[in-house]
Amino acid sequence: MIFSKSYCPHSTRVKELFSSLGVECNVLELDQVDDGAKVQEVLSEITNQKTVPNVFVNKVHVGGCDQTFQAYQSGLLQKLLQEDSAYDYDLIIVGGGSGGLSCAKEAAILGKKVMVLDFVVPSPQGTSWGLGGTCVNVGCIPKKLMHQAALLGQALCDSRKFGWEYNQQVKHNWETMTKAIQNHISSLNWGYRLSLREKAVAYVNSYGEFVEHHKIKVTNKKGQETYYTAAQFVIATGERPRYLGIQGDKEYCITSDDLFSLPYCPGKTLVVGASYVALECAGFLAGIGLDVTVMVRSILLRGFDQEMAEKVGSYMEQHGVKFLRKFIPVMIQQLEKGSPGKLKVLAKSTEGTETIEGVYNTVLLAIGRDSCTRKMGLEKIGVKINEKSGKIPVNDVEQTSVPYVFAVGDISEGKPELTPVAIQSGKLLARRLFGASLEKIYHTLFWPLEWTVAGRENNTCYAKIICNKLDHDRVIGFHILGPNAGEVTQGFAAAMKCGLTKQLLDDTIGIHPTCGEVFTTLEITKSSGLDITQKGC
Ligand code: NDP
Repeated sequence: MIFSKSYCPHSTRVKELFSSLGVECNVLELDQVDDGAKVQEVLSEITNQKTVPNVFVNKVHVGGCDQTFQAYQSGLLQKLLQEDSAYDYDLIIVGGGSGGLSCAKEAAILGKKVMVLDFVVPSPQGTSWGLGGTCVNVGCIPKKLMHQAALLGQALCDSRKFGWEYNQQVKHNWETMTKAIQNHISSLNWGYRLSLREKAVAYVNSYGEFVEHHKIKVTNKKGQETYYTAAQFVIATGERPRYLGIQGDKEYCITSDDLFSLPYCPGKTLVVGASYVALECAGFLAGIGLDVTVMVRSILLRGFDQEMAEKVGSYMEQHGVKFLRKFIPVMIQQLEKGSPGKLKVLAKSTEGTETIEGVYNTVLLAIGRDSCTRKMGLEKIGVKINEKSGKIPVNDVEQTSVPYVFAVGDISEGKPELTPVAIQSGKLLARRLFGASLEKIYHTLFWPLEWTVAGRENNTCYAKIICNKLDHDRVIGFHILGPNAGEVTQGFAAAMKCGLTKQLLDDTIGIHPTCGEVFTTLEITKSSGLDITQKGC
C-alpha cells in the first residue's frame, strides 16, 4: 500500500521500484482524493511520518522513500513481500516488564493476537523472580517499600515528641519486612498474569532468541525449545546489574537483584557505586539501623545537579552513612561463610597508590546496568545494536534498523531509564502500530503503595480530571481522594493556572511510585463506563 502524491518525485521512485519487482500495489494519490489531507493527518498520527510516500507491506509500516530503498537493499523488502498473514501472532513481545506489558495489553485491546515472552536468568547468587520486570520485582516497588520501613523507624522516634509513650524496645526485623514485601510482589506477579489472561495475551515463561526473519526460538527452564512466528516484534528486555570484574565479585557480592529478597539481614554493608541505586539502597539500609559505607569512585550522582547531590550526601552522612571517596574495590575475599558471612574488601585509591582494607558482612554492587540484548540472536535478523553500550538505536517511532522490530524501555538508546517512560512508550507504540484512539471526564481508582503492605483497602483512592473538549481538552477540574491530597493538588493547581491540558498531562513523566503520577496515565473516560478498579500496581 503506497500513500503517494502524483507530483512527488520520491513517490514516483518508490512506485517504479515496486513495479520493477513485479509487485502490484495499492496506490492512493492523496492530492487526487477529496479527503487526502485528512488521510495524511491520520497517517501521521499512526506512523509519526508526515510526508509521502508512506509505504506499508503486508501491514508492516516500512516508511518513506529512503527506508523503502534501504529495506530493498538489505533484502528485507523482498522478504516482507513474500510474507502473508500466516504468522502465529500479530505481535510477539520479548520481555514482560513495564514496557513490554503495557504494549502487550494495549495491542490486545486493539484486537491483536499477542504473545509475551518473559524469562529471568538467575543472578550469580541464584535469585530470580516472576512476571513484571525490574520495577516491580527488584526496583522501584521493593525499594520504596524498604524506604517506607526506614521512614517508619524515623516516625517512631518522632512519635515520642508527639506524645506517644511506649516501653517496648524498638528493633527492626529484616525477615518480617522482606517476607511482607515479597508477598506483595507475588500478588503483583499474579495480577499481571491475570490481566494478560483476561486480555487473551499468551504468556510464555521462556527465553526468546531470533533464529530467522519473523521467527523466534523460545526455550523454557527445562531446555525444551519451541518456535513461533509473528508479523511484528517488540524487544523490551531491560537491563541487569553490572559486575566489577575483579576477584571474588560474582562469588561473594550481591546486587539490587538479590537485596530485596535476601533471606537474612545483610548486616554491616559496603555499597559500591554512587548513583541512584547505590544511594537509595544505602539510605534505607542505614534507615533500618545497619552500619553502611558507600564507596564512591568519583562524584555522587553523576549527571545530577551537583549542589543537590552534595546536599544529599551530607544529609546521608549526618544520618549515619559513611562515605569512602575516591576508592575502588580491587579484590573481595571471603573470611567467614554465613548468613551473612564476613568479607574482606581490598580497595585502592583512584588518585594515588594508597590501598585500604575493610571487613563487611555484605558487599552490594550498584555500579550501573547492562542491556540484555547480546544473547537474543538480533544479529541473525540484522537488528543493529550499539556495540559499546548494547543499547538498541531506535527512530522516533521506536523502530529498530529492521522495520518490523521495535524496542521500548531501558534498552532503547538515548531514552531515560525510567518505568513511566517505558509504560508510556509501550502503550503509544501499540496505538501507533494497531490504530490510534481519541480521547471529558477521566477518572481512575488507585492504591497507594504505602497502603498495600499495611493491608489498607484497595480501590478507595480516586483521581478525576474534567477537560474542556472545545478548548484543546484543557483541564478545568481536578480532584484527588487519597493521602497527601493537599500536596499533590498544590503542584497541579499551578499547572492549571498555566493552561494545563490532557495532552500535557499525558506528556508528563510520572514520578514513580507516587500517588500524583496517577494523573499522567489517566486513560478511562467516565462516559466509556469501563472498569476503573485496580488489580495491580
Ligand atoms: P548508573 O549507571 O547511574 O551509575 C553507576 C555508578 O557506579 C556511578 O556512581 C559510577 O561512578 C559507579 N561506578 C561505575 N563503575 C564503577 C566501578 N568499576 N567501580 C566503582 N564505581 C563504579 O547506575 P545505577 O545502577 O545507579 O542506575 C542505573 C539506572 O537506573 C540509571 O539510569 C538510573 O536512572 C536508573 N534508576 C532510576 C531510579 C529512579 O528513577 N528512582 C532508581 C534507580 C535507578 P562514576 O560516576 O565515577 O562513573
